[in-house]
Amino acid sequence: MVRRRIRVPETQGSSPCTQTKKLERPDEPKATSGRSSRLSRDQPDYWGFRQRRIPTANVGTSPCTQTKKLDLPPTESGEGRRSTKLDTKKYNMKFKFKKDKRNPYWKKLELRIQKNAAKKDKKFILTGPWKKFLEKRDGIKIYLVDGNWIRNNLYGGFNHGGHGYVCEYIPLDEIWVLTTHPVDCKCKHVKPNRMMSKNFRKSLILHEFTERNLMAKGMIYWKAHQLAEEVEKKAGYIRDPYSDI
Ligand SMILES: [Zn+2]
Ligand SMILES: [Zn+2]
Repeated sequence: MVRRRIRVPETQGSSPCTQTKKLERPDEPKATSGRSSRLSRDQPDYWGFRQRRIPTANVGTSPCTQTKKLDLPPTESGEGRRSTKLDTKKYNMKFKFKKDKRNPYWKKLELRIQKNAAKKDKKFILTGPWKKFLEKRDGIKIYLVDGNWIRNNLYGGFNHGGHGYVCEYIPLDEIWVLTTHPVDCKCKHVKPNRMMSKNFRKSLILHEFTERNLMAKGMIYWKAHQLAEEVEKKAGYIRDPYSDI
């Protein structure tokens, strides 16, 4: 979830659904956002996909050095973990993933949710006036949701958007995006009424969609989120995805 997230003090990092704090981007000159982290592109060869290997999920291992496969069962739609040639071509990216310096709690939690995603109760589908269907993309239903309702009733740290591989309460075939910027998000240039621009929403959906699909194939959240930001940047819906305009 781009924009994505917070269950702990900012100093401890961010959870997938709630990140609001800027992530460090030591190597790149361009700027940044509440939901994204800057990526360095000078390292030619990491990501697992290029090596036909799914990045590992070992907690405590540096994201940049993981080599073990994440043990994820295939999802309903047949998304398993392999994949990868296609993804490499599609995104055609090479870069060095930022090191995960968050409190290890977040990584453990993310992995647990991701690993157990296929075990969710498929009948647990939240609906209500707070949730409006927007579109279906490659079998994934995208909903506009009321952030205030979610924060008051589901998760107080929900931020911008989310999907079923990072949010326990979102079905795997759904992506949720807020209609407005959260009141405490770090985005720049937000209008007084906090409504999201169409382009921001497009970029957000692209991020969530990309991140979700990468995680469905076994990539851990920490990496999938960064790649999703890169895809946003390439798409160019907003001037600078790293500043969340
Ligand atoms: Zn994300
Ligand atoms: Zn925002």
